[in-house]
Order: sequence, then C-alpha cells, then structure tokens
Amino acid sequence: MLIKEVLEQKAKNEVITLEVNKTILAATQKMCEEKVGALLIVSERGDVVGILTERDILRFCAHRSIELGKTKTGEIMSKNPVVITADATLDQAEAIMTEQRFRHLPVVAGDKVIGLISIGDLVKAKLTETAVEVKYLRDYIITA
Ligand code: AMP
Repeated sequence: MLIKEVLEQKAKNEVITLEVNKTILAATQKMCEEKVGALLIVSERGDVVGILTERDILRFCAHRSIELGKTKTGEIMSKNPVVITADATLDQAEAIMTEQRFRHLPVVAGDKVIGLISIGDLVKAKLTETAVEVKYLRDYIITA
C-alpha cells in the first residue's frame, strides 16, 4: 500500500499548522481543539520550519510549566521535520518512524505539504491490508 492511499483513507486530510511565534499554551489549546497530537510549525510566510508534538509539550511541562504562556513554539519544536512522499510505501514510512522513534510524518509533493500521517494511520492501513490478504487467501483456499 502507498502513502497516498493512506491519505485517501483518512476521514479528514487536513494539515493543522501553527505559527512559529505562537506560545506553547496556544499550541496546547490548538491540539485539544483539533484533536491532534502534532502541529506543523510554519514561518510568517507559511513555510514549514518544524514539528511540535504532544511529547515535546509533555517534556516542557515536566520542567517549565509556568512558562507555557510565554515560550514560543519555535523554541521547542523539532526543526526541519523528516518528511515522506505520497508514492512511498507503508513499510518505508514504518521503517522511518521505528528507526527515528517518532509517530508523525508530514507527506510532501515537491515543497508543498499535502498531508500528515501518524502511527495510528499506519496501523489502521496495515490492518486493512492484512484483512484484504486474509480474504484473498480464504477465497483461494475455498476455490482451489
Ligand atoms: P512523536 O513520537 O511523533 O510525538 O515525536 C517524538 C519526538 O520526535 C518529538 O521531539 C517530535 O518533535 C519529534 N518528531 C516527530 N515527528 C518528527 C518528524 N517527522 N521529523 C522530525 N522530528 C519529529
């Protein structure tokens, strides 16, 4: 299965972004409103400059919770996120996430972000793929 098929299966393929000069408190509120675990951080011109996930905020809260309303997203985001293209496979995305130990991957076409997949999207797509394989094997065994 290709990443573009994973994007097509998502109920809502919207990339949620926040500007680099917004605070961590604003980022936390946006993640709750949008029910997402990661935000792509964009410059004033709209270019993607980083990624900020629940894990970054958790780490920040453990040490500096008092500064949530003062610290900017750009100060704690991971810069220049690792990305994947829509023609990559599910296995390639899984390998990147496993090796690099993160759960979110922006999907790009050239220099444009066209989606964001999470480990949850991958697991769901894998289950679908496995169910289809099982069905074909069952049909094959029955008709053989
Ligand atoms: P996650 O497991 O996705 O919540 O992220 C764990 C850590 O990896 C956090 O510090 C994230 O900012 C960072 N991270 C997540 N996704 C990416 C990515 N695609 N490229 C670079 N860093 C990332």
